[in-house]
Amino acid sequence: MSTYKQIILVSSCLVGLCTRYDGKLKTNDHCLNRLSGAVWIPVCPEQLGGLPTPREAADIIGGNGEDVLSGTAKVITKSGKDVTDHFISGAKQVLNIASHQDVQSIFLKSRSPSCGVRGRTGVTAALLKQHGFELEEF
Ligand code: SF4
Repeated sequence: MSTYKQIILVSSCLVGLCTRYDGKLKTNDHCLNRLSGAVWIPVCPEQLGGLPTPREAADIIGGNGEDVLSGTAKVITKSGKDVTDHFISGAKQVLNIASHQDVQSIFLKSRSPSCGVRGRTGVTAALLKQHGFELEEF
């Protein structure tokens, strides 16, 4: 009998870790069901980029995640602080983890300036896409 298990990288807030900017719980049951039987690695790019929890809400100004990576857009908090470097640093660390593990799938949180996949792509999602990873959004 095979002991092979699929390895999935997942946004940590989807699996019940209170890593959201507001520190609140937002577990996604559909995502947890999809993770069943797999080995999963929870990551929060904003925390990995050195930001605290809770933290001020931030958004991409002037484009999407690809534009942040190319230097033509920025990530700015509600009070106007530039946190672009934190977002890029966190994205690179998630890419590093994904590249060094035999990750078969990546599940990311929707509508996030880091993790969002559809609509306006977040910074981490954009970097992972640029490196050929297939992403699913929850
Ligand atoms: Fe962290 Fe991404 Fe969840 Fe935001 S959406 S809390 S950056 S894992």
